Amino acid sequence: MTDARALAAEYLKQQRLLGGDSVILPEKPGNVVQATESPFPASRVPKTESSERPEATPSGISFDPPSADLFATDPIQQTRSLQDVATLIAACRKCKLCEARTKTVPGEGSATARLVVIGEGPGRTEDETGRPFVGRAGELLTKILEAIKLPRDQVFICNVVKCRPPENRLPQYDEIAACLPFLYRQIELLKPRVILAMGGTAAQSLLSTKQSLGALRNQVHRFRGIPVVVTYHPAALLRNPNWKRPTWDDVRIAARLLDT
Ligand code: URA
Repeated sequence: MTDARALAAEYLKQQRLLGGDSVILPEKPGNVVQATESPFPASRVPKTESSERPEATPSGISFDPPSADLFATDPIQQTRSLQDVATLIAACRKCKLCEARTKTVPGEGSATARLVVIGEGPGRTEDETGRPFVGRAGELLTKILEAIKLPRDQVFICNVVKCRPPENRLPQYDEIAACLPFLYRQIELLKPRVILAMGGTAAQSLLSTKQSLGALRNQVHRFRGIPVVVTYHPAALLRNPNWKRPTWDDVRIAARLLDT
């Protein structure tokens, strides 16, 4: 393989790992859009141009895992509050992620949140504090939410897995499978109007699909009837700022769904 081909192959591999399936080339010199301000300034209000209405966004996957029945003996199903779920998570030893964790990270936010944001899994700072999205990616997420006029404390922020994968590796299939019932129950208790799935792991786990993040964007999916919008993970945006603009488009779809 020539150097250029090897480089391109490596680049595409990284894109796939980040959940994207599109190639974004840097702007040509002289053709660079001077973005002096963040694409996520707090003052931006979603516009409602007719071509951008949520109705115009095609429908995607509808995933409807059965809920447990009223008399289920499963302790997760017996929980009656988010705090009950967090208590079960704190004691959970269903997968190997419990071995190296410092703290469990069940999620946090308003119990009446209309928007639930789902990431992949806790990183180092989250593991130390027990709070989701408090590192650099979390700061960016806070800005994204402010841009659609949603203070962090008005949404519920959580992850697919509630314990930190060692060295921030991707959560493995068995770990996700062990942890998903907590997420399902959190969603059941919250009954949000919209779910924002950030990154491939969140989108694929919630919608039970192997489709790439690129294929899942620009559609409104449904989880038990609740609209799900898929976008890039904030950590991926830190690595590739070119994805901020498409993320803004996705987040505006979620904002408009919240308003409808
Ligand atoms: N990345 C995630 O997916 N979740 C967090 O809580 C922090 C970083």
